[in-house]
Amino acid sequence: MAVPIDYKAEGIVFDLQRFSLNDGPGIRTIVFVKGCPLSCLWCSNPESQQRKPTLMYDAESCIGCKSCVRTCQHGVFSVENPNFIDYGKCTGCGDCVAACPAGALTIKGKTMTVESVIRELKKDVITYRESNGGITLSGGEPLVQWEFSTELLKACKAQGWHTAIETTGYGSEEAVESVFPYVDQVLFDCKTTNDKVHKACTGVSGEKIRRNAKRITELAHTIIRVPTIPGINNTEEDFESICRYAGSLKGIKEIHILPYHILGANKYKLMGVDYRMPAEIEPLENEDVLPLQKVVEKNGFRCVIGG
Ligand code: SF4
Ligand code: SF4
Repeated sequence: MAVPIDYKAEGIVFDLQRFSLNDGPGIRTIVFVKGCPLSCLWCSNPESQQRKPTLMYDAESCIGCKSCVRTCQHGVFSVENPNFIDYGKCTGCGDCVAACPAGALTIKGKTMTVESVIRELKKDVITYRESNGGITLSGGEPLVQWEFSTELLKACKAQGWHTAIETTGYGSEEAVESVFPYVDQVLFDCKTTNDKVHKACTGVSGEKIRRNAKRITELAHTIIRVPTIPGINNTEEDFESICRYAGSLKGIKEIHILPYHILGANKYKLMGVDYRMPAEIEPLENEDVLPLQKVVEKNGFRCVIGG
């Protein structure tokens, strides 16, 4: 019997990225949903963390016309404010974006129905078919808006598409049981097995994640992905420990190493917040993580650098 699908279910989506090669098999379209309970120091999608739409301001494009000051009904912009913008007051209505003649303002995140996302995803259906690709749900953390994620994944399965999800594993039991039966491949973020380091770098303990990981690996084929950050988790000992952890979970055969990069650093500026990673920590090249790849392979896992 066909599973009922609520095509009118609504979620807040902040991007749809087509022709992606690194987020599951084949060529994929990634649906990025808002909201994340973690706040990783190195996060390259800081605009994903709030569940509500997020205002971004590019001071370099601003021509100082003050249309936004006149337009915003919520007192977000003020020339008396030395920072010009009080981001905390923004409701995400988008009026200022429409009024800005310079394209200096953007809102990341808009409400979409499952039906409207599927309509967009259908544009790439030939690509999915010819590349053995599909769709990948990312964020943010897709378990935050889990009701929407569930309906969207069900709708993708009803189209016959391969589904993948990028997850931190942080969510309620109810969310896990609801979402993962409709996932073909899980790309499971694992930062560290050291809980003190986990808390310090992500803002949350890893306990709930470890509990969920057991269940998620029972429900769907899972690949572990390690954002590899200098000074936090890039030693061979760190990776020995991650391999022991991966070996304790059901069916893990593959570990991906994601070398640290700073491609998202400028977004923090646009959001009026500081990028908390120390400037002296430099991005990693693929060759920097080759010793870690050896550790992973020595422990019997297939290892891909870059995912
Ligand atoms: S999105 Fe709306 S509330 Fe936010 S700054 Fe623009 S006009 Fe004001
Ligand atoms: S409307 Fe745009 S260009 Fe004009 S002051 Fe505001 S941000 Fe700057």
